[in-house]
This record gives sequence, C-alpha cells and structure tokens, in this order.
Amino acid sequence: MIGGSSDELRCSRAGCRADASSAVNWRNPRIHSADRVKVWLACDEHGEYLRDYLATRGFPVLLTPLGAPVDPSTLTVVAS
Ligand SMILES: [Zn+2]
Repeated sequence: MIGGSSDELRCSRAGCRADASSAVNWRNPRIHSADRVKVWLACDEHGEYLRDYLATRGFPVLLTPLGAPVDPSTLTVVAS
C-alpha cells in the first residue's frame, strides 16, 4: 500500500513545502460518519500544529506515522 513517488507527499500546512512524515487523521462529526477519516499530511515540524488546529475545533484527531493503518474508532477528541 505504500509506494510510488514520495515527491507527492508534502506537508498540508499552508506555505510549507517539506516532505510529509506524518499523517493527521481526523473527521468532522457534524458532516462525516463515524467510519470516515480525512487525512492531512504533515512534516516533522507541523504534525502537532495541524493536530492541535483540528483539536481546538473539537474534531476527533489522531497523529500517526505516514502510511500507518488507522482504525477510525481510535480517533480521539483531545481536551485542550
Ligand atoms: Zn510542514
């Protein structure tokens, strides 16, 4: 499942051109069903930034290494 060109895997942070190393898995409970997971890519620097960005909006979120399988039920709302 992992493969292809890593050139495509860039950080989702606006303005960041770094290669992604992490996946920020999240969902919006208002519009997404419980088994739906959206994925943003993040570099080493911005993984926690993007996770916190979503967490402060009350979205379930899980930061994982890029390419790691994710069980939607493991997304958690981070108290802030
Ligand atoms: Zn970045």
